[in-house]
Amino acid sequence: MLCSSGITKAQLKNDYPIQPVPFTQVHVMDNFWAPKIDVNAGITIPYTLEQCRKTGRIDNFLRAAGKIPVDTMTAYPFDDTDLYKIIEGASYSLQAKKNPALEKYLDTLISIIASAQEPDGYLYTFRTMKAPRPHEWIGSKRWEKEEDLSHELYNAGHLYESAVAHYLATGKKSLLNIAIKNADLLVKTFGPGKEEKFPGHEIVETGLTKLYRVTGKKEYLNLAKFFLDLRGKAGHFNQEYSQSHIKVTDQHEAVGHAVRATYMYTGMADVAALTGDKQYLSAIDDIWHDVVDKKIYITGGIGATNNGEAFGAAYDLPNMSAYAETCAAIANVYWNSRMFLLHGDSKYIDVLERILYNGLLSGVSLSGDHFFYPNPLASLGQHQRSAWFSCACCISNMTRFLPSMPGYVYAQNKNDLYMNLFVGSTSAIKLPVGKISITQNTNYPWSGTNEITVNPEKKAQFALHIRIPGWAINEPSPGDLYEDEVKSSKTVSILLNGKTAKYETIKGYAVINRVWNKGDKVSLSLPMDIKKVIANENVSADKSRFALQMGPIVYCLESPDNKDSAVMNIVVDKNAPVSAVYKENMLNGVMTLEMKGSSTKRQINSDEIIKSEQEVTAIPYYSWANRGPSEMEVWIPYDAAMAKPKPAPTIASKSKASSSANSPRMLRALNDQYDPQDSKDASASYLHWWPKKNTTEWVQYDFDSTYIVSESKVYWFDDGPWGGCRIPLSWKLYYKKDGEWIPVKNISSYEIAKDKYNEVKFEPVATTAMKLEVQLPVEYAAGVHEWIVK
Ligand SMILES: [Zn+2]
Repeated sequence: MLCSSGITKAQLKNDYPIQPVPFTQVHVMDNFWAPKIDVNAGITIPYTLEQCRKTGRIDNFLRAAGKIPVDTMTAYPFDDTDLYKIIEGASYSLQAKKNPALEKYLDTLISIIASAQEPDGYLYTFRTMKAPRPHEWIGSKRWEKEEDLSHELYNAGHLYESAVAHYLATGKKSLLNIAIKNADLLVKTFGPGKEEKFPGHEIVETGLTKLYRVTGKKEYLNLAKFFLDLRGKAGHFNQEYSQSHIKVTDQHEAVGHAVRATYMYTGMADVAALTGDKQYLSAIDDIWHDVVDKKIYITGGIGATNNGEAFGAAYDLPNMSAYAETCAAIANVYWNSRMFLLHGDSKYIDVLERILYNGLLSGVSLSGDHFFYPNPLASLGQHQRSAWFSCACCISNMTRFLPSMPGYVYAQNKNDLYMNLFVGSTSAIKLPVGKISITQNTNYPWSGTNEITVNPEKKAQFALHIRIPGWAINEPSPGDLYEDEVKSSKTVSILLNGKTAKYETIKGYAVINRVWNKGDKVSLSLPMDIKKVIANENVSADKSRFALQMGPIVYCLESPDNKDSAVMNIVVDKNAPVSAVYKENMLNGVMTLEMKGSSTKRQINSDEIIKSEQEVTAIPYYSWANRGPSEMEVWIPYDAAMAKPKPAPTIASKSKASSSANSPRMLRALNDQYDPQDSKDASASYLHWWPKKNTTEWVQYDFDSTYIVSESKVYWFDDGPWGGCRIPLSWKLYYKKDGEWIPVKNISSYEIAKDKYNEVKFEPVATTAMKLEVQLPVEYAAGVHEWIVK
């Protein structure tokens, strides 16, 4: 069919029964999203484009084109995709707002990309540039290492997504033609009896389906299905990491690299919808339950472990070491939006909304130019957003996602109109019964009231489906992973032109089916109780803790708002009243939560913890880490035994620590009096010397006065067999005398063992400083959880 813009789109036989209302038809004008989309357009897009230039990502294309010498290249063969993704985001932003200078710059970039494409359509700068020492991932010929790490098809997938976005935004075919030429090469190259390889990193599947939608070329859809069905077949590079351990239709649990996995589930939904073939549905339905029932953080983050950037075991959701990659959050929005389009159930949008307002939004700073790769749920100050990463996937993904956000607000299926997100906006929507203009007037997410004005061009019958969020009816998650500690008795209220509206509840939506007239008003009121959310008892990391949530927003405690800049030592009673206070000038305007709690502190010669009452303030999780390094915690202990009390005033805790591993954060670990569960406990803080090995290293305490000491204990960090640290070969203590380091005369031996304190006793010395010397193993580093002197 021919759209009003003159752009051709294929007429498809099968597709999602429900279709999103394109973001171009939804004009966001609220105080929450509109400023963030503006920051994306004004700061993030120009900044990341400039970073692509500075880091050599654009030069990679010029090298492949033979326009500049191949004296160097960037770090990863998938670096091409950063440019594609940023062009995609820039295209979305052009569609929302004209910017001739940006459009012209994109034209320049696209001509550079075209110049790097080989005559037969192959586009992969790391091979085409013929570097004297090629990157080890790319293999000696095309596709050789595709199932492993070459990322040739991954690059293709992002190219297609970008090309389709650029075409739809500008009507120009420059990038689209590059993509089609490349996709035609794939069609020629891959298939039964031809090259039989699946992508080592999925995304080409959704890229191909997007290209199919625009061109109508069925071969693209067939190829996407071919790639999916090849996974798990004998004789391939099969592994859980890339979801190729078994056939995709036999997969029922989320495993492996979380971004790869979630892109694959998205691709399976697309292919299922477009082919009308239901064989993938039972697999992705089961996997969805596995994720939402057992593997998703309350922030919506997925992929708990940094070991393979992967899904962990069921209920294994550590907070400080949470990986929860920004890309995985974005991919999870894509997947859940597709699940909704397939099934029309609001539970998918509940998950999508949780991700969107929390674990996805945390990926970018309020300033728009700093980014998180992992999004942890607790921190001792070691986590800060970075201006760039050499692997920049999360940055370019955030850049492309934000301007597309208005596309998740509405969806339609014939004369059924779905209102999925509550965002102050005006929209023009075309239903079969006629054109509808619809306005949302709301201060969401800080307020639960929404004045909705429906303006059909002429009076028309259709069904408005208003999503009733799970959080508003005491169901914070679709399964039993998270539950409200106290159920609210308040109910959702919906008025139509001032009177109680008649509606049916269908699949989580309040459905008002009637003849609508110009100016009809729906007043929605969602109860905004502050909830204390409790995790399923199988989640050991959240034991005896609650998380605060109000509306869709998950909260955390952060140093700047709390006494002594400390957070980890705070305990709040489960029954403590909590009040909401809006602070206009804080963090670009946020609702804060305030309550009474206690801080905890250790004391000398007693195991009893000293508790003292204090005010406690929580801020939205997405807004943390915008005020410098700080402690942060989402899951607040209600049992003092779970808090990390401030250290007692021991010789060690009053000392100034220093080390040959010179990091202030790591130095704090030595005398923080947090005992690890075992030597490999990465959720406790520790000091390490990785990647050094076979060297002599040290830590040192300078006392605050002279003490007589005769005993010392040390707890080693050892993350074997996978990590790089082991218990040391040997260790030795020195004390300071007249400016010299003198070995102590030990009367017990220097013990070396894992998972316990190693003790040494020595002849008493009066001194102002002690040094612990450590001999690293020949092949490994070593580390220290805690060092005590007495
Ligand atoms: Zn990423």
